[in-house]
Amino acid sequence: MEKATLATNKSTVLPNDILIVDDTPDNLRLLSKTLIREGYKVRCAIDGSMALLTIKTKLPDLILLDINMPGMDGFEICQHLKQSESTKDIPIIFVSALDEIFDKVRAFELGAVDYISKPFQIPEVLSRVSNQLNLQNLRKQLIQKNQLLQIEISNRIAAEVEIRQLNFDLEQRVVQRTSQLTAEINERQKIQKKLEYLAWNDTLTGLPNRLWLIEKLTKILSLTPQEAKSQFSLIILDCNRFKIVNDSLGRQAGDKLLAMVGERLKSEIIAQDIHLTHFGEDKFAFLLENLEDTNCVIELAQRIQQCLSPAFIVEQREIFIAFNMGIVLDSSSYLKPEDIFRDADLAIQKAKNSSSNYYQVFDATIQNNALEILEIETDLRLALKRQEFYLNYQPIICLHTGKTRGFETLVRWQHPHKGLISPGKFIPIAEQTNLILPLGMWILHQACQQLSIWQEQLVNQENLFTISVNISAKQFEQEDFIEQLDQIIDDTGIDVRHLKLEITETLLMENAAIADRVINQLKARQIKLAIDDFGTGYSSLSYLDRFPVDTLKIDRSFVNRLDEKNQASTIVKATLDLAHNLGFNVVAEGVETQEQAEQLKDWGCEFAQGFFYAKPLDVQSAWQFLPKNLAN
Ligand code: C2E
Ligand code: CA
Ligand code: CA
Repeated sequence: MEKATLATNKSTVLPNDILIVDDTPDNLRLLSKTLIREGYKVRCAIDGSMALLTIKTKLPDLILLDINMPGMDGFEICQHLKQSESTKDIPIIFVSALDEIFDKVRAFELGAVDYISKPFQIPEVLSRVSNQLNLQNLRKQLIQKNQLLQIEISNRIAAEVEIRQLNFDLEQRVVQRTSQLTAEINERQKIQKKLEYLAWNDTLTGLPNRLWLIEKLTKILSLTPQEAKSQFSLIILDCNRFKIVNDSLGRQAGDKLLAMVGERLKSEIIAQDIHLTHFGEDKFAFLLENLEDTNCVIELAQRIQQCLSPAFIVEQREIFIAFNMGIVLDSSSYLKPEDIFRDADLAIQKAKNSSSNYYQVFDATIQNNALEILEIETDLRLALKRQEFYLNYQPIICLHTGKTRGFETLVRWQHPHKGLISPGKFIPIAEQTNLILPLGMWILHQACQQLSIWQEQLVNQENLFTISVNISAKQFEQEDFIEQLDQIIDDTGIDVRHLKLEITETLLMENAAIADRVINQLKARQIKLAIDDFGTGYSSLSYLDRFPVDTLKIDRSFVNRLDEKNQASTIVKATLDLAHNLGFNVVAEGVETQEQAEQLKDWGCEFAQGFFYAKPLDVQSAWQFLPKNLAN
């Protein structure tokens, strides 16, 4: 804002301007002479009208005004001047002759400041003039100071207004910025909350996730025995066959199903003190707090089983969930959540291996078992190098002729301290640890080498002799499985028409896409294919239709119950009929009695394998077994 200023009045330094009004020229002369000598600027007027004209031209600092004049007298002139704003402040000193009647009262009433009598006493005149001029100067200074003050005041007021405005603006900006900041903070808090939610929850099921459970368990485990008032338990639920849903109906359908399972569990199972979490993939976990009685845990497992029994409808299909549960009953003795998970997992494995239990409570035997597995795992890594493996050959008999059609190769492990370890024990471990990959290739190589030796010895015999080799899913899924197989075939120079690979139906169902690709490549090479352990997995014969399979091997759990009049017989008979309709031949595994063999033969089963004919044999025994029984 522009600051008000006052132009400095330079007139104060100039000589004072005095107007003398008198009709007597002598008086005028005397007074003007005297005053000019004193340094004043003097103007003169001989009557009222001249005086007013002179004043109008330039305002004098002081007027010496004669009273008695022809025309306008001194009083009149004075009155006139006092009435005008511009002239009212000019000090007027009346001049009158001593002998004249002088109304002093009137003179002062009209605004005169002083009077002088004629004849003049010069020192008196000078003193009175100088006094009045000083007074007038002081008044002017006062007025000027006053004006300066006024300006100062208005400047201050203006400054205050400006400051107030600035303050107001500042406050406005503070308010604005504060609300901006508040909005920003709110937004950040929202993002923070969202991030936290994502960290602790699974987006698919909307359930707390594994991290949440770890955090929760860590807190519980850190409580002192006094603080931890009661026991807690953990159930891990592992849904099986989700992969099939993913592979057959698509990943989206699989996700949908998972969300539905989570939703059903949430609405039917969750209660106070039961926390449900999505543990990862197709696993859920239930944390039970404040347990009074471990029976509640088993009851809960049964309730979960009932809850998941009814089918789920996904894309207009009914889907039943298969699952197992591992239970750690009293978790308070654990140090880390991971240890509880490990034991729950071991219990799940045990439940999976059992055909009758959908849940398993973890106990010491499972732990010992796990330790043994660990030992086997360690030893397995060395066994290949140390050449502790060898192959056995179990004859496969043609039921029609009673002659040997070929052998199934079965691996054996001669452990340096533990003796012979059955493949049922070490193959699953080899699969878990991927050791099955080098081991499987060694077996395949060994079997092909043996086949090439036998082929040479059986030269010119136009026979259908086959060697069957078990191939695990892990091997089958290897990108370069066919490549490696080709290499072995090349190395050993076998006639591939005599080679048959045994794979399980589980492999076909769970890896349909891979199975399709690999099987077509096998077919292109005229290598034969058998479905092993048929009946223990999905038993979805219609599904098998799409795969160009040669042989179906009915699992021995059905065959060895053939004697009893039960469901097993029905299943075997039905399987045979269906397999034949699809153009497969059938091998019945685990034939132990004459009756079983005869029954199977009656039903048109082509081949049989089992202790009734021969146990798995070493190379020499197998070779000796062969000629007298070879089927053409
Ligand atoms: P599998 O492929 O079903 O093999 C047949 C199993 O049944 C063999 O057990 C055999 O000894 C047994 N068996 C044959 N006839 C009878 C019988 O009349 N009664 C009874 N009770 N058992 C009979 P083994 O050799 O212990 O093998 C068990 C499983 O280990 C095999 O089942 C197979 O899944 C796996 N395995 C064995 N050798 C290999 C292999 O070289 N590679 C792979 N990947 N797995 C193998
Ligand atoms: Ca087999
Ligand atoms: Ca089998």
